[in-house]
Amino acid sequence: MSTTDIAITLLLDKDGFLRRECPNCKRQFKCLPTKDKANKQSQLQYYCPYCGKLANINDWWTKKQVQYIKQKLSKVTEPELKKFTKDLERLNQPGSLVRIEPKYKLPPEPLPFHEPNDMRKVEPPCHMREPLKICENWNKLVICLICGKPF
Ligand SMILES: [Zn+2]
Ligand SMILES: [Zn+2]
Repeated sequence: MSTTDIAITLLLDKDGFLRRECPNCKRQFKCLPTKDKANKQSQLQYYCPYCGKLANINDWWTKKQVQYIKQKLSKVTEPELKKFTKDLERLNQPGSLVRIEPKYKLPPEPLPFHEPNDMRKVEPPCHMREPLKICENWNKLVICLICGKPF
């Protein structure tokens, strides 16, 4: 598991769904993150379940998620940063003319991410294994993420 996977796992709701935001209509829904690497195929784009627009797989992050993942990933460099600082400190010999003041700022500890278990679960008949969660009050047709078929 890579660090990105871990960061993403923390963003899931109780049912393991990941919140997504359509880059076109800005509406939010949830889908299951792809766990099965063999099943991944070459799904590089998804249809929005509301407006039906296609968007690249990397365009669906909500602002909150991007912020959180960035903070999480920035923690990775912390031990390296500390080691580097120690090395610098060792250079500070008594009487040395040059004094190196190692300064680094640690990124703030990310707040625990809370993903509420909201929204209504639906299963597209064309892709039963790709359930999604949509807004409770959405009463129009839902578009299948994978093939763009309304149901
Ligand atoms: Zn949309
Ligand atoms: Zn489908």
